[in-house]
Amino acid sequence: MNTETMAMSANRRRGFLVVLSGPSGVGKNTLLNAVLPRVEGLQYSVSATTRPPRPGEVHGRDYFFLSDEEFDLWVQRGEFLEWAEFVGRRYGTPRRFIEECLDRGLTVILDIDIQGAAQIRAAMPEAVLVFLLPPSLEELRRRIYGRGKDSESAIAERLSAAQHELAAVNDYDYVIVNDDLQRACDQLRAIILAERCKVSRSDYPALVASLREGGNVT
Ligand code: ADP
Ligand code: 5GP
Repeated sequence: MNTETMAMSANRRRGFLVVLSGPSGVGKNTLLNAVLPRVEGLQYSVSATTRPPRPGEVHGRDYFFLSDEEFDLWVQRGEFLEWAEFVGRRYGTPRRFIEECLDRGLTVILDIDIQGAAQIRAAMPEAVLVFLLPPSLEELRRRIYGRGKDSESAIAERLSAAQHELAAVNDYDYVIVNDDLQRACDQLRAIILAERCKVSRSDYPALVASLREGGNVT
């Protein structure tokens, strides 16, 4: 068992959420793929959406791709922790999976828009909100075009949404500039590890009590 695993089992109570937001094309998905293998006990939450899959996207891995009717049903059944409309399509976070992960003490990371983040903050004030910024608008354009998987109109809608989204950065706890991917990954990892050590999240009273008890033995 390495130190991180020991810390997880000995000192951690219920898990918590990390929300990652930022304009489309900034690199949220790329950053998540880089950080997930580097942080033990970190779980990605797969969202549901009514948008069609991009080339290469897989149902159940990238998103649960739902019809409008299916999405309505999930909403009616209260299956979403939050949901929002983004450039004409709906996106939502499945609730049950998150609850199960939190009960197991995992840290769950969500890639969701600013409306979803505001709903999470209201429902779970202890969630950690991280905003990912592009180094420049030109670079954001380059990345979204370079990805080459959205139509011209989808790209235009996403770039226009970015202007409004950037204004929300002040409501977040942390900001990372995704210039160098390795550095951004180090920063996100550091945020998660530091958040786990917060007094409010750890089981330190039980440990301190047992340490003090031991101290009284003569
Ligand atoms: P998002 O999930 O935010 O929509 P993606 O992860 O799909 O964005 O990234 C969009 C494009 O930007 C991809 O082609 C990706 O390879 C590229 N990209 C991501 N991060 C960086 C980075 N730090 N430097 C250069 N290109 C990047
Ligand atoms: P894309 O279509 O580029 O994959 O995602 C568009 C936007 O939807 C991104 O800002 C992404 O963060 C957001 N998004 C993805 N899943 C969810 C979700 O479950 N809830 C909310 N509110 N937004 C989401």
